[in-house]
Amino acid sequence: MQNFTFQNGTKIIFGKDQEQLVGQEAAQYGKKLLLHYGGGSIKESGLYDRVVQAVLEQGIEIIELGGVQPNPRVSLVREGVTLCKEHNIDFILAIGGGSVIDSAKAIAAGANYDGDVWDFFTGKSPVTDCLPIGVVLTIPAAGSESSAGSVITNEEGDYKRAVGHGTMRPKFAILNPVLTYTLPSYQTACGITDMMAHILERYFTNEKNVELTDRLCEATLKTIINNAHTVIEDPTNYAARAEIMWAGTLAHNDLLNTGRIGDWGSHDIEHEVSGIYDIAHGAGLAIIFPAWMKYVYKHDVNRFVQFANRVWDVEIDLNDLEKTALAGIKETEQFFSSIGMPITLAEANVGEEHFEEMAKKGTERGPLGNFIKLQEDDVFEIYQLAK
Ligand code: NAP
Ligand code: FE
Repeated sequence: MQNFTFQNGTKIIFGKDQEQLVGQEAAQYGKKLLLHYGGGSIKESGLYDRVVQAVLEQGIEIIELGGVQPNPRVSLVREGVTLCKEHNIDFILAIGGGSVIDSAKAIAAGANYDGDVWDFFTGKSPVTDCLPIGVVLTIPAAGSESSAGSVITNEEGDYKRAVGHGTMRPKFAILNPVLTYTLPSYQTACGITDMMAHILERYFTNEKNVELTDRLCEATLKTIINNAHTVIEDPTNYAARAEIMWAGTLAHNDLLNTGRIGDWGSHDIEHEVSGIYDIAHGAGLAIIFPAWMKYVYKHDVNRFVQFANRVWDVEIDLNDLEKTALAGIKETEQFFSSIGMPITLAEANVGEEHFEEMAKKGTERGPLGNFIKLQEDDVFEIYQLAK
């Protein structure tokens, strides 16, 4: 097991009606907040009105910036940074999913920076100081509600890039599973896929003797798999929605990373796809992750056998371990398909025209992943396997 430091300071407030506490929580961080949200789901559900009321009751002034799109754009982030500077904002409240939260994080980092916020995403400048952020989560998926990362798309060049820094981690996140009842089943499934991918990125490691973290990963994966069809078929099932919501946070709050180095190649390979084609990140991962698995499994067949057996209950064939490993990959792919995800690029209307460009752009800052370091031609082959 590798040495590690684990610190996740996000206060999680979980359960029915808990969004009513948002004003009290926000009041700890100042008198003026930027209310950041997406395209309208929170207005339709009435959540917007409840949050605004709870905040105003605390005497907090609100400046608003809605309109975050899935795969959030740097142009709106820049607008948010300008608003924060103009109005001396103390605190950013993100109401929504990964896109809104990531946009809020980027604004928070840019608010105390004189240069252009995209500098953080190219590596030109490190994030040093952020405004505090709070979250009311409406979709369990990205895990951004307690992660230190932000993923933003720059429309100029279709670059989708990530940056991480401890100060971007939200101060609090309110998780009410009831708020997820209104999710379209496709979005629910994209979220399930993304949270599973976050665990798989950590599971496929070269670290040996990491049993506890392996078992925590497997338990979280099994819980997601056991509840996935229930939330899709019965969207107002509180118990199942609650399991999925908590799993989404645990998948990405760094606990499942302890003592090991994760991979993250599939995420980077997917970001090139959603950067150009603007498909949902979860859908992209349902396509890319199984393709990555097929490309790399021979590097450590035993780890893939363990995954097949412990997560998918595939019986181990001691005479043919590769067959067992491949059966686990097949189960993963079939599961994604069973919840309504595309499992080929063609199903997502992504053609081959940008494979070379995506492989080149994806690796321009060095090889991707850690389980195996993937060079440009490896990434190209993975797109071929995914087509
Ligand atoms: P999202 O992009 O935030 O939201 C997807 C869609 O779901 C939006 O159209 C949104 O509509 C809708 N929606 C959200 N909550 C809803 C609800 N309760 N009822 C009805 N509709 C609802 O989804 P996401 O998967 O959470 O975030 C994806 C982004 O996160 C990607 O850009 C991905 O790369 C990134 N990501 C970040 C991290 C990280 O650690 N920072 C990790 C993985 C992925 P409205 O706009 O109308 O609300
Ligand atoms: Fe993700």
